[in-house]
Amino acid sequence: MCVEHKKVCMCGRNSASLQFRDEIMPEEVLEGLYCPVCAAAVRYDGESMIRDNGWIIKYDMDIVRFMQHKLPAVDATPGYLFDEGYCTWDGIYPTDRADSIRERAELAELARTDKRKYIERFKTWGINRMNRLAEEGWRKANEREQGKEPLQCEDDAGTGLRDMSEVRL
Ligand SMILES: [Zn+2]
Repeated sequence: MCVEHKKVCMCGRNSASLQFRDEIMPEEVLEGLYCPVCAAAVRYDGESMIRDNGWIIKYDMDIVRFMQHKLPAVDATPGYLFDEGYCTWDGIYPTDRADSIRERAELAELARTDKRKYIERFKTWGINRMNRLAEEGWRKANEREQGKEPLQCEDDAGTGLRDMSEVRL
């Protein structure tokens, strides 16, 4: 189970969708969210932060330690919280959720107008998307290249096209 949480970064220019796996960590565990613009002024601290393609998530490690007993890991590091989904992007990157809903809606539109093109695009959409994200340098897209599947909300898994019929324009 995961619930979507949309958060605005510190400078207010950008926002990200986050997920909190099994709702183990309260939202307050997210102490700071920095987009590539506001992250430039942050002094990076690997003990409480995770960096991903210019973005920085800062965790409140007091809350992490307080909730530690609910986690399988003995020592929950920022990398662990991020990779295992306890406070991380909903999907591969900050705006993945909104973008994939939009991309799927575009595919659904194509299905109505050009069936052949739709089938071509359908086959390659998820693969091309993941390759592009890996190239851009997103942590979870590159993890996947190493054979580790990132955890995602169910409707973002794989191509996610099975729920396409639910998309309303
Ligand atoms: Zn910002």
